[in-house]
Amino acid sequence: MTSPVEALPPLRDVIARHDLAARKSLGQNFLLDLNLTRKIARAAMPWSDATVIEIGPGPGGLTRALLLENAPKVVAVERDERCLAALGELVAAAEGRLALHAGDALETDLAALTTPPWQIVANLPYNIATPLLLGWLGQADKFTRITVLVQKEVAERLAAPPGGKNYGRLAVAAQWRCHVRLLFDIGPKAFVPPPKVTSTLVELEPRDRPLAEADPAKLERVTAAAFNQRRKMLRTALKSIWPNADAKLTEAGIDPTRRAETLTIEEFCALAQQL
Ligand code: SAM
Repeated sequence: MTSPVEALPPLRDVIARHDLAARKSLGQNFLLDLNLTRKIARAAMPWSDATVIEIGPGPGGLTRALLLENAPKVVAVERDERCLAALGELVAAAEGRLALHAGDALETDLAALTTPPWQIVANLPYNIATPLLLGWLGQADKFTRITVLVQKEVAERLAAPPGGKNYGRLAVAAQWRCHVRLLFDIGPKAFVPPPKVTSTLVELEPRDRPLAEADPAKLERVTAAAFNQRRKMLRTALKSIWPNADAKLTEAGIDPTRRAETLTIEEFCALAQQL
């Protein structure tokens, strides 16, 4: 039997009827191929008792896929009023499984919308992907899993191991709290309009406990100082925090002549403990 979601008009019709010309300022690059959005939804499975949160449903391609793949409860946060109007039919077809929230995801307190645990599945607006991810990482214990489409470059920075140019603050923040996995790439042509860059679906699965003990604010302070001058030796880069950086590094068991990108996350945590 055809489900009410399957019976909805094609996304291109929805876009035409609601005049959803994509706005660059809102990072709007829509996915209209239901095979692809269903592949993304399946990559985010299995569902658990967590509420699925979708940031930026747009015309609803991925939202339809989540519902067709039987996500039990979806809350979608969208700031474009035009898209919210276009999603009315989908809310009706979802028969109680979809709720919309109008607003800016950066300003939205998820706890005010629904109780944790949460599972994020989204094709993120690329201009705000990093601040959104950093906000979620700060409360990683409330999430079961985060599966998001981001620029390939951001995905590579999230998953980067020590030793390369992609390893930096984002890698430390993400991998300290989560297991990070790159799932698959999606080329520009899959989007309407096509972006300039390739995208990657990335999965962040919170660890039972952070990789090593550290205060999050102190860890962020140390990594910011270290990577702000990533070409310098740590004894110089960390002078902004400690005039006697040499001694602090030695105390933490780290050779002061090393550079930020060679440090493991555990070593950054050891430094944060010196603060
Ligand atoms: N999920 C849809 C898809 O895959 O076709 C649209 C994805 S599009 C890359 C990003 C979506 O995020 C757009 O619908 C845009 O309006 C929305 N958006 C942009 N900035 C936002 C914000 N600050 N808060 C909530 N939604 C936002």
